[in-house]
Amino acid sequence: MTGASIYDPAAMAVLARACGVTPQALRQMRNAFLKNGLAPEAALACLPETVRPRLAEAARFHFLALGERRDSDRDGASKLLFMAADGPRLESVILRIQSGRTSLCVSTQAGCAGGCRFCATGAQGLARDLTTDEILDQVAWANQLLHLEGRLVRNVVFMGMGEPFHNEANVTAAVARLIAPDGFHLSDRKLTVSTLGIPEAMLRFAQRFPRVRLAVSLHSARQEVREQLMPLARRHPLAELRAATAEVAALQGQPVMIEYLLLAGVNDGPADVAALQSFLAGLPVHLNLIPYNPAAAAPGFRPTPEPHRRALAAALRAAGFTVTLRHSLGDDIAAACGQLADR
Ligand code: SAH
Ligand code: SF4
Repeated sequence: MTGASIYDPAAMAVLARACGVTPQALRQMRNAFLKNGLAPEAALACLPETVRPRLAEAARFHFLALGERRDSDRDGASKLLFMAADGPRLESVILRIQSGRTSLCVSTQAGCAGGCRFCATGAQGLARDLTTDEILDQVAWANQLLHLEGRLVRNVVFMGMGEPFHNEANVTAAVARLIAPDGFHLSDRKLTVSTLGIPEAMLRFAQRFPRVRLAVSLHSARQEVREQLMPLARRHPLAELRAATAEVAALQGQPVMIEYLLLAGVNDGPADVAALQSFLAGLPVHLNLIPYNPAAAAPGFRPTPEPHRRALAAALRAAGFTVTLRHSLGDDIAAACGQLADR
């Protein structure tokens, strides 16, 4: 299927001129779809009837087919399963946070080439990168569902399937359109991009988007342990990652989020904590301790038991670090997304 993408303001302006749609009518229609969560037919109803059919035929609103939707009755999360036109499947997770905030965890690739041992997506391998339109369409679909509940996506976290910086150009373009006034017009402070830790890409991103939050999946501050967990850690040694994290925090004037998945007997012992403390010392960061979600596709790990997790968080806080300890799926975006490939 071809057609001008609704997400592309320049292409839509050209199409609108050709169809005799005024710039004001075009703006109203795009706002209805992008900002208010209306379905394509309802958004098109903003246009005068005489020009509607031509534009409807030549514009393209959706780039993914929405398949199943699974609601968790326990914690307000909904998993959305999508299919791309050429077959690959991918997922997003809606998180309804109790305060009323609504977040969407989006995928940037179908599968992932990261190969992290604990991750169900990593076990799949990479099918392909998602296009900018496919990344943005996850937000538009979620808004259409949320609109019916009187909510809209306010926060977008790039923690679904895939490594954002392996698809850097499309992710950068998607972030730009999420915050553009003629795009979704979300606040750049409400976006978070999570990476396995690719120093050059982190710096490029922080320069381009000084207020979009970066999260680094550290998971171990011991090089050999990190390499066992995350094969790509070999290419990006801890010293480089630490230097890049410091530079990003300085560029952005805000702390970087460090994600640390707690795996029993793997990265939660005294030597691991000591290494973590010296890695974090002097870095303006916020540490997020994440419970492991046993993923069927990545067997062999056990979560660190809750009392030990609490003790670790308390010890790190006492040492002066800012630490959050997540508990359940509902308030844990990363854990919700860590199982995205699981059926
Ligand atoms: N590729 C990026 C973003 C997607 S993964 C990255 O790795 O950061 C998002 C987060 O989920 C990462 O912190 C990842 O380490 C974590 N994750 C992966 N598998 C998980 C699991 N089984 N349980 C909990 N978190 C997991
Ligand atoms: Fe890819 Fe992130 Fe999973 Fe690693 S944790 S395999 S980088 S999605």
